Amino acid sequence: MKSMVPLGLIVATFALTSSRCFDSAKVFRVKPQNEKQVNFLKYLASIKQLDFWHPDSAPHIVTQMQVDFHVSAHQSRSVQTLMEQNEIQYEILLHNLQEEIEKQFDGKRNFTGRHSYTKYNDWDKIAAWTARIAKIYPKLVSRIQIGNTFEKRPMYLLKVGKESGRKKAIFMDCGIHAREWISPAFCQWFVKQAARTYGKDRIMTHLLDSLNFYVLPVFNVDGYVWSWTQDRMWRKNRSKNSSTNCIGTDLNRNFAAAWGTTGFISDDPCDETYYGPAPESEDETKAVATFIRNHLSSIKAYLTIHAYSQMLLFPYGYTFHKAPNHNELAEVAKAAVEALSSLYGTKYEYGASATLIYPTSGSSVDWAYDEGIKYSFVFELRDKGRYGFLLPESKIKSTCKETMLAVKSIANYILNYAS
Ligand SMILES: [Zn+2]
Repeated sequence: MKSMVPLGLIVATFALTSSRCFDSAKVFRVKPQNEKQVNFLKYLASIKQLDFWHPDSAPHIVTQMQVDFHVSAHQSRSVQTLMEQNEIQYEILLHNLQEEIEKQFDGKRNFTGRHSYTKYNDWDKIAAWTARIAKIYPKLVSRIQIGNTFEKRPMYLLKVGKESGRKKAIFMDCGIHAREWISPAFCQWFVKQAARTYGKDRIMTHLLDSLNFYVLPVFNVDGYVWSWTQDRMWRKNRSKNSSTNCIGTDLNRNFAAAWGTTGFISDDPCDETYYGPAPESEDETKAVATFIRNHLSSIKAYLTIHAYSQMLLFPYGYTFHKAPNHNELAEVAKAAVEALSSLYGTKYEYGASATLIYPTSGSSVDWAYDEGIKYSFVFELRDKGRYGFLLPESKIKSTCKETMLAVKSIANYILNYAS
């Protein structure tokens, strides 16, 4: 066993040194006070390489919006100077991104290197776990492969629920955006907690007896692998684009929901929010959309888990018009965020996404809704920007526990009221 320790450390060190380095890279926060400042930030984004953390891209910026972006070490001095010259007030959220990347692995040391629910697990560990959990709970969990990614990795879906006749179902995916690591951590937590508390927790037992959950722990597997091995800040998938070296499509702009029409989506493959050459052009989008279409008669709710900003959003994103059951969605969301905050007091905002954040098209939640899934929600998990995408492992457990309450609240509603 002793030799396992240094080996694990060597592997970890190698993984970090072989990848893109973020030494002295910074994350800035700005709240533009007027149109002039908004325009200045958009201009800054056009002349400097700004990696937007919130909102997703520069065109979304409006006055009084909290804008977080990451700048490389060699550009951060000049970005700072330009902001000062233009009297833009800023805060530096992270002074050295590389240090924060390393600090996120602050979970309890685990010398075996095994899968852990309170640590971030790489894809190999998650893939092995999907097989293992189905083996441990054969009466509750089964594994289905719904397709392959662009790089031919299997897309595993876990079906969680007591085997019985026709049941309503809830589809939940995690990790559509590669760098949002807390999201796959939640899907793993959910499956474990559901299986372990069946027969003990009254509500969960009832839910699993009467509903099936389809859980996709990692939607964007190739991107997730890339975020572990090469670039911690990677967001898109890893498909090749013709006529450019820029890689990847934003899978959450690639669905056939007003695809490519509204909300500052991008037709430039070099952008982080590139919507792809056609709706469902990406293998990953196609696999998920096909599975959902084939199960539309049973799927009553669609949940998609992102980070960060502590919000619970629902359709629409592509229009400011209210969804037909807007008031009901708001009620369900309100109950869910109240359940969530009952544990540690974590505050969530909720609302229709175009109104609460900004318009976007081609998102999975709008697509699911337009396919007839009337209870479709987006979770933006912790935090509100202190760590952003680099939420430390020590916060996985509390984040998952509180989110579990919100998901149970929605599931309970589906069980009792969705037809
Ligand atoms: Zn996301």
